[in-house]
Amino acid sequence: MELRALVQEKFSEPQKCYGHCDQQSTLKFLDEKVTTTAVYSCPGAYISKVIVYGASVDLDQVLGYVQSLVGKEQDVREEDIRVASRYPWDLGIDTGNQEKVMGAAYWTQNYRRTKSDDPNRVAVFLCGDCRSVFSQPMSSKQTLCGDCSRTG
Ligand SMILES: [Zn+2]
Ligand SMILES: [Zn+2]
Repeated sequence: MELRALVQEKFSEPQKCYGHCDQQSTLKFLDEKVTTTAVYSCPGAYISKVIVYGASVDLDQVLGYVQSLVGKEQDVREEDIRVASRYPWDLGIDTGNQEKVMGAAYWTQNYRRTKSDDPNRVAVFLCGDCRSVFSQPMSSKQTLCGDCSRTG
């Protein structure tokens, strides 16, 4: 089964938005430019989690990728990223052997060493239109990126 289809089927349960509001976050895939990446975002567009999937997941690579995705303001560090391996029995599928099916790396926004409660701190959001990741103050109600809010 294709990786993305597998993730969609097995790991797309809605989750409560973490650290932002009380609504549900749902899994959305980003454009597959570099790697298979999905984010959990709520109706307010806030990204609670970034997940990078691959046949194997390299921490250094994921770190660089997440840093470039969410921007410098987020201070993403190696210890903020959790890497997990998924085996056939995790997924409830039969691949004919017991070998690892895929790896996943998780970065949770708001998982920070010095927890800031400043409502105006810069956070990352997912544009509801073009699905690009953009930064704005945590308290903002805007759900579109700069480009889309100007043209829309
Ligand atoms: Zn939210
Ligand atoms: Zn946009």
